[in-house]
Amino acid sequence: MQNHPAELSPPVRRLMGPGPVEVDPRVLNAMSMPMLGQFDPQFTQYMNEVMSLYRGIFRTQNHWTLMIDGTARAGIEAVMVSLVSPGDKVLVPVFGRFGHLLCEIATRCKAQVIPIETTWGEVFDPQQIEDAIKQHQPKVLGCVQGDTSTTMAQPLAEIGKICRANGVMICVDATASITGMPLETDDWQLDAVTAGLQKCLSGPPGIAPITLNDRVADVIRGRKHIELGIRPDDYQASDGEMIPSNYFDLSMIMDYWSEARLNHHTEATSMLYAARECARIVLQEGWQPRFERHNITSEALVNGLRAMDLEVFGDLSNKMPNVTGVYIPASVTGDKVRMEMLNDFGIEIGTSFGPLHGKIWRIGTMGYGCRKDNVLACLSALEMVLRRNGHSANPGAGVDAALAVYNAAPAA
Ligand SMILES: *Cc1c(COP(=O)(O)O)cnc(C)c1O
Repeated sequence: MQNHPAELSPPVRRLMGPGPVEVDPRVLNAMSMPMLGQFDPQFTQYMNEVMSLYRGIFRTQNHWTLMIDGTARAGIEAVMVSLVSPGDKVLVPVFGRFGHLLCEIATRCKAQVIPIETTWGEVFDPQQIEDAIKQHQPKVLGCVQGDTSTTMAQPLAEIGKICRANGVMICVDATASITGMPLETDDWQLDAVTAGLQKCLSGPPGIAPITLNDRVADVIRGRKHIELGIRPDDYQASDGEMIPSNYFDLSMIMDYWSEARLNHHTEATSMLYAARECARIVLQEGWQPRFERHNITSEALVNGLRAMDLEVFGDLSNKMPNVTGVYIPASVTGDKVRMEMLNDFGIEIGTSFGPLHGKIWRIGTMGYGCRKDNVLACLSALEMVLRRNGHSANPGAGVDAALAVYNAAPAA
């Protein structure tokens, strides 16, 4: 008898890293629904419903609100490769790892990339960005809203206005922050916003919701080329430079998501079901209760960690509520503590990269995983593991401090 791998049976975990996070059971259920043909009227209706639901999520009237199949960076890459032509100037304020990713992707699009950097743990003053725009006159500004690598969120309301006033198109990566904190695509004048499911939307990685306004859509239409074999009879190529990716060519993808239903790729059926359910859950909860839940949980976790004589990372006035950085005490080994949290308590917390590697852990409290029981279990387990590794705190102080926050909060 051949020895095949055993049937899948993943251990039960509390996923409290920076993502992926626990998937809402309603989403797992949606993913188990039967396949439909990609042009079945019921399926195209689901596609239209997803467009409409994500207008609600992105807070926009943008018609072009659709899904890119792939993880969050697929959304970023689709927007960049379709919008940016070789030689275009792209300005990127970098305040963490994902700012570097925007630079990387823009570089592969052969843009002239201009990064401006700040220390990890801080964000930019809008004036710094305005000065850089005036100096460099970029076509596009690429900016992350919340960067899980540093736990910081860049305020964007003013930056959107600055870009609009200066004729710059702003593309925002809101993967880590969307539905965990406010994002107002239309009010903040953001031209393109991209996301992923595996953070606060509480879905699995594998599909990237994006939204584009007409300013972006016009540029993309000007570069429209349709592959041979699926061209409509009245096809005429545009004058603009061909988009150098077929999979991420938004001019064709937009036709797939329109009544033309161009047969571009096959929409990832189960991921579309997942995205649909993720959005329904968020919109059913409502924005105020949702933001309050994330804010209270963040405060409970921060106070709990501090009560255990731990130091929270970064400028707290710009901290995302859904992820918390905490300094690893000098007396312990970061990875050993993380492994004991995982192996003995079934709780995953995150490590970090770049300049923060080995310095902080990152604890996620996102979407479905943003719960009191998760915070209390994490603080209890961390106290035990730290004690066994030589960092002792006042017994029970972390959980008491967190509970005090919950008990003082208005009943949810
Ligand atoms: C987590 C995260 C991503 C994830 O990208 P994937 O391609 O889905 O791995 C992208 N951007 C930001 C800001 C993130 O925090």
